[in-house]
Amino acid sequence: MDDRFNTEEHRIFRDTFRKFVEQEITPHVPKWEEERAVPRELWHKMGEHGFLCPWLPEEYGGLGLGFEYSVIINEELIRGDAFGFGVPMHSDCASPYIYSYARPEIKERWLPGCTTGEVITAIGLTEPDAGSDLANIKTRAVRDGDEYVINGSKTFITNGYFADVIVVAVKTDPSLGYKGISLILVDKDAPGFSRGRRLEKMGYHMQDTAELFFEDCKVPASNLLGEEGKGFKYMMEKIQQERLEVCVKCQANAEEALKEALKYVKVREAFGRPIGNFQYIAFKLAEMATEVELGRNFLDRLVVDHVDGKDIVQKVSMAKYWLAEMVNRIAYQAVQVHGGYGYMEEYRICRIYRDVRSLPIFAGTSEIMRLIISRNLGLSPT
Ligand SMILES: Cc1cc2nc3c(=O)[nH]c(=O)nc-3n(C[C@H](O)[C@H](O)[C@H](O)COP(=O)(O)OP(=O)(O)OC[C@H]3O[C@@H](n4cnc5c(N)ncnc54)[C@H](O)[C@@H]3O)c2cc1C
Repeated sequence: MDDRFNTEEHRIFRDTFRKFVEQEITPHVPKWEEERAVPRELWHKMGEHGFLCPWLPEEYGGLGLGFEYSVIINEELIRGDAFGFGVPMHSDCASPYIYSYARPEIKERWLPGCTTGEVITAIGLTEPDAGSDLANIKTRAVRDGDEYVINGSKTFITNGYFADVIVVAVKTDPSLGYKGISLILVDKDAPGFSRGRRLEKMGYHMQDTAELFFEDCKVPASNLLGEEGKGFKYMMEKIQQERLEVCVKCQANAEEALKEALKYVKVREAFGRPIGNFQYIAFKLAEMATEVELGRNFLDRLVVDHVDGKDIVQKVSMAKYWLAEMVNRIAYQAVQVHGGYGYMEEYRICRIYRDVRSLPIFAGTSEIMRLIISRNLGLSPT
């Protein structure tokens, strides 16, 4: 982390959270990975210690801290093997929509629970037939008196199975393309709302990724976030922080994979010497360490820019594509230096390898990141 975010207070916060993770999370990870979920009790414990939405103002139960504290939480969760615990999605991606765009009474209703763990949040944008092409979503909301009636479905939704309230992207006017998209909060108890199965994924197992269904689902009109037709604009505003949050995941996982590789090549022997002393492997580790260091510098700078309120669209797109692909290169090589053990579940690198495959996909694929970058370079790729 940049020196500015490595003060005494930051270090104390990091140490406290690291201890919490060591005691309350890491020992249980194998069980939760198997169960495909973390217990709700853990969310409550996180809330009791101020580790949920720490950026929220005190009036909503938060600590009023900067985004860098969310980065610390995200990093330490990954260091403690809890990549799949959906706290960054809740704290830094979904809850900010409520804070920024909900009506005052709706904020009062949900935000205090977001800090205590009584309320888990999620974002429902992706549909079975529209992921990258969000302007093409089909879920429809029709205003009927004091309510919206929603029909459609969402898929791949992080925290989807246990979320209490979900930010859902809908079309309020399908004739207007992306300008007809609005965001509406859907309470888990809304009539007509249901969830499908918890999806079986390649990795990221303790994460309860799910499908969501809306069949004449009725929600109060006051659940509309901001104004009708502004949903796409709001998503583009908020998704920058979500991408940065994913960049943190990429970098922290790359650092962990490198650590595992380094540890292993120093102790594993072949042909009478530690394998790390073969020049080929030593050079491979040197290359990996260099990539990880470059990533760290890029990310730290970006976090500073984001906290300072600068426009990070171009750089976060670059970072998201590069870091997500970098961590996959690092994880691949880290498995390779482990030989057969790298393919065994009991070795941590095996899980890291599976988990990080998701990173070039969610929050905008690597291809979509390249599309944004090239457009900002004045090109028009088709
Ligand atoms: C573990 C996980 C968690 C997720 N969590 C959430 C969540 O919480 N909320 C949510 O709304 N969504 C979530 N998603 C969905 C994710 O954001 C989408 O999967 C992603 O945006 C890609 O959409 P898609 O799957 O429909 O792929 P598609 O859009 O169908 O893309 C398929 C392929 O085509 C490429 N492609 C598409 N368009 C172009 C183009 N113009 N140029 C070049 N290549 C292109 C893509 O890059 C990709 O390689 C999650 C996904 C995963 C795997």
